[in-house]
Amino acid sequence: MPSRSMSSRDPLASLVVALVVLAAAACQSAAPAADDRPAGARAVGGEAGAATDGGMTIDPNGRAGTAAAASASAGTATAPQDRPAPASASAAPTAAEAADLVARAEEELLDLVVKAERAAWVQLNFITEDTEILAAEASERLLAAGVGYAQAAARFDDVELPADLRRKLDLLKLGLTLAAPDDPGKTAELTRIMSQLESTYGKGKHCPAEGECRDLQELERIIAESRDPDELLEAWVGWRTISPPMRGPYTRMVELANEGARQLGFTDTGAMWRAKYDMPPDEFAAELDRLWGQVRPLYDALHCHVRAKLQETYGEEVVPSGAPIPAHLLGNMWAQSWGNVFALVAPAEADPGYDLSEILKERDVDPVEMVRHGERFFSSLGFDPLPETFWERSLFVKPEDREVVCHASAWDVDQVNDLRIKMCIQQSAEDFQTIHHELGHNYYQRAYNELPILYRGSANDGFHEAVGDTIALSVTPPYLVEIGFLDEEPPPAKDLGLLLRDALDKVAFLPFGLLIDQWRWQVFSGEISPEEYNQGWWDLRERYQGIAPPVARSEADFDPGAKYHIPGNTPYTRYFLAHILQFQFHRALCEAAGYEGPLNRCTIYGSVEAGQRLNEMLEMGQSRPWPEALEAIAGSPQMDATAILDYFAPLQTWLDEQNEGRQCGW
Ligand SMILES: [Zn+2]
Repeated sequence: MPSRSMSSRDPLASLVVALVVLAAAACQSAAPAADDRPAGARAVGGEAGAATDGGMTIDPNGRAGTAAAASASAGTATAPQDRPAPASASAAPTAAEAADLVARAEEELLDLVVKAERAAWVQLNFITEDTEILAAEASERLLAAGVGYAQAAARFDDVELPADLRRKLDLLKLGLTLAAPDDPGKTAELTRIMSQLESTYGKGKHCPAEGECRDLQELERIIAESRDPDELLEAWVGWRTISPPMRGPYTRMVELANEGARQLGFTDTGAMWRAKYDMPPDEFAAELDRLWGQVRPLYDALHCHVRAKLQETYGEEVVPSGAPIPAHLLGNMWAQSWGNVFALVAPAEADPGYDLSEILKERDVDPVEMVRHGERFFSSLGFDPLPETFWERSLFVKPEDREVVCHASAWDVDQVNDLRIKMCIQQSAEDFQTIHHELGHNYYQRAYNELPILYRGSANDGFHEAVGDTIALSVTPPYLVEIGFLDEEPPPAKDLGLLLRDALDKVAFLPFGLLIDQWRWQVFSGEISPEEYNQGWWDLRERYQGIAPPVARSEADFDPGAKYHIPGNTPYTRYFLAHILQFQFHRALCEAAGYEGPLNRCTIYGSVEAGQRLNEMLEMGQSRPWPEALEAIAGSPQMDATAILDYFAPLQTWLDEQNEGRQCGW
């Protein structure tokens, strides 16, 4: 499923993402950047924003795509009775056996991935019961093979091997998001639980009275649009009535998953997730804390201003000074991004001076021409044009005669050059940005298409999405001037509204992107016990986000379960990483392009130097540890959140002025 989740589908690489879900990589998102940005306008929305990009994807916003749902319900991917492990399982394994295992895995997984991609493409473009079943079956076969190879790879943990072989075996093992215990009864139980959790979420509805039910989409719309605190509260509490039944199954899932992880040599499932990042798990966790420390002053300033403006709207009784912000007032069901309250917190001079959506409509730039603009962007960086088949096989416009999943996604169906996007393009600024984002995935996929199949993927799971977003960050006023959409650039003073809107989505998201897995890691390690699941959740929400529940909560609630990625068991740190990395990439590419000026005004359009720098990273795929890929593009192997601060510097100045005399913090 997620296959696409973040990245754009690079299936093999992160192959098996979940027990039931497969993640390849897709992207996602609909939004302009997608995935995670539930951004403003579209926040509510539906399929759209959310998740799935590709079919099987999930975005940070959360919803799983239909394919996911289908495979979940069919559910079963599991552990492989017929596992591909070498027959001589009892003897000490040898390097030759390891090489043989990898060779078989590369051949079989490529075959299964391509089949699963084709089936998923058809399913999402022609939604019927039959195509859902076919896609789920193909996913399950891939998943089962992935689980089998992961278990087989674990046998070589203590064998001395050449570095390349070691990396490939590790990738096979680390493709798993959930490891089923090596016991058919427990595997079946785990599979059943995962499917049950996912479907409890998917079918969740709040029914205050008989026959009066509201699903997530309706409740999200209220949270996004209503300004009535009572109505907001009812929607917020209402959605959280769906999750208490998940607590028991979730607790059992944690036990079973940990048992499986231990069999693969990890201390628990959280450690298995952190092990994907080419460094000791604790060191990686410390890295995340360091990054958060860098951006915290910007977040604190944003939090302070937003709280003050919400207080003006709702009064001090509802929004107390010096305290965490009540979670139902931020325009998003999980308070993960705040673009929907832009109108409440925006400066008077928020108008950027132009409206790209209007420009597209006035000029009648049709969907294919919008995509051509995206292609020309990459051509201007020195990349080859897209293959003819891209234009023949992509979906650009919502068909009138059948059901499709419109959520935007980028694909490489044959894992070589069968690139496609699937979008229902409208003449809007958001879709124009999303096109650039999705094509970022496609060019990444093509750049690594000559590597061994296990290396065709994102340097780590934050990279793919970050690339798409990086390109979308270059859709700036100077770019619009270059392509003739604007006659002249509006003065920089006009940027404040744009920056604030971006910050409400991307900066507000950061602590949320971090805390989801902080909670999960502590749950998997036992540091948060089942008796404190809810308290542990709210402790983190307060500490990182400065958010509090609007009414008292207790252990009769299970609020984590009301966020898709918890029952869906999708790791979340990738979204935090993508948010950090996109600004770091953007700054590095702007430097390569010789740009000087405010970072939020930079476009790399037309810079062959920036294109070369980008390509050096893209073509590495995941063949090397991600710090090397980062160094190729950014000149440093260290993640660095100061690029976000640079980008939002004009906003920080403005926020500091606004916050003067206010009591900030919580
Ligand atoms: Zn994406």
